[in-house]
Amino acid sequence: MSNLTDLTMAEARDGLRAKDFSAVDLTKAHLEAIEGAGALNCFVTNTPDLALERAAQSDNRIGSGESGSMEGMPIAVKDLFCTRDVQTTASSHILQGFTPTYESTVSQNLIDDGAIMLGKTNLDEFAMGSSNETSYFEPVVNPWRREGDDTPLVPGGSSGGSSASVAARLCVGATGTDTGGSIRQPAAFTGIVGVKPTYGRCSRWGIVAFASSLDQAGPMTRTVRDAAIMLGSMASYDPKDSTSIDRDVPNYEAELGKDVRGLKIGIPTEYRVDGMDPEIEKLWSSGADWLRDAGAEIVDISLPHTKYALPAYYIIAPAEASSNLARYDGVKYGLRVSESDDDITELYEKTRAEGFGTEVKRRVLIGTYVLSAGYYDAYYIKAQKVRSLIAQDFTNVFDKVDAILTPTTPSAAFGIGDRTDDPISMYLNDVFTVTVNLAGLPGISIPAGLDANGLPLGLQLIGRAFDEQTLFRLGSVVEQAAAFKASPVNWWSAAS
Ligand code: GLN
Repeated sequence: MSNLTDLTMAEARDGLRAKDFSAVDLTKAHLEAIEGAGALNCFVTNTPDLALERAAQSDNRIGSGESGSMEGMPIAVKDLFCTRDVQTTASSHILQGFTPTYESTVSQNLIDDGAIMLGKTNLDEFAMGSSNETSYFEPVVNPWRREGDDTPLVPGGSSGGSSASVAARLCVGATGTDTGGSIRQPAAFTGIVGVKPTYGRCSRWGIVAFASSLDQAGPMTRTVRDAAIMLGSMASYDPKDSTSIDRDVPNYEAELGKDVRGLKIGIPTEYRVDGMDPEIEKLWSSGADWLRDAGAEIVDISLPHTKYALPAYYIIAPAEASSNLARYDGVKYGLRVSESDDDITELYEKTRAEGFGTEVKRRVLIGTYVLSAGYYDAYYIKAQKVRSLIAQDFTNVFDKVDAILTPTTPSAAFGIGDRTDDPISMYLNDVFTVTVNLAGLPGISIPAGLDANGLPLGLQLIGRAFDEQTLFRLGSVVEQAAAFKASPVNWWSAAS
């Protein structure tokens, strides 16, 4: 039954309902695929025993007609979500050995709906990065390669283990988190769908915090339908997260196939950046054509403050991170490095010096600097003002359009090691995604084509706050028109 791993979530759901196979069969097939994919380094922790135990329980529920919306679905969970009794590291040395006694709300929602966790996926340390290369547990390798070229490529970041494991068919879907693009950019680099929901749609409770005013969890899957199914389970109002919003979770799947005639789609002039890759530009116009052919109206729009988004993000995100990461002191969680028993300052210094990697230290230093007396007004407050202007740009255009179409990334996946010496060029990866987080809006990335080297490229749709429905509707039109059927050639089983 080796082709069980090729099933989408919706297909697996149908097969389970029809009793063509059991949840245990489905789980075993994916666990085997994971065993053969060591060369991709997708997982920090594998939980096969737990998965098989939950799969057996799932079969019992299916047998007694009590299936949840994610019943029997083998999924991977980004190692930023706290999971009860399962190590949670944020891919940082400082959290190695930390085993939460609680479950994040999002992963609990998935469990309650019958999902089966196969393991915890690798990520950039504390979700800081765009390539998964800042992980303490070594980079994840993209299952995709350029045609006729064995150069190992990045899977995007920070949710790189999640994106690679979905693309390599090691799971039917995975959770991600997106602070500045970490769901959408890796989705684009690996030819899958990724949704960053509206801020407040999914609870942040139990997710290791990076930048709390920007962080949001979302699904990563191989189809738009699967993303709709999975977001329906992940989203909820949660009184334990004061920024969670008390609104009903709509039936996202019901949006697929609905008419898009008359919807207005904005094309923002400012996203046509200098030196834009002609292949990306071409894909972007194809996307507009596909939507126009389906009856939507394409409108040119302006988001004038776009050029300030990256600088504002790279002040606000590090500022919040420096504050959030102050809790890692060698006392409460994971790593403790100390030579004497009576010097608490030494404990803090040694633990943090050894426990954090270079990129995390860079962010803590930047964040501490922009929050310090004297610089707070010049940098942090200024960045917050810019953030308001960016949000206002979106409010203004959403009077005129129902969604916005842009490329997801300025390039296809690049080689491991190609950008690690130049943080600024790494930060530029987020140029099309950070604005969405700064404004708290929902965004979806859909695989839309291949570049000349045979690597996937994504298109992004941005929606009004809490209007994920329109994104699913339009996303499924783009998905059908793009007819993206390519999948990576499996070289990793032999390499493992
Ligand atoms: N690449 C961005 C950063 O490094 C975004 C990361 C994310 O969304 N978690 O901050």
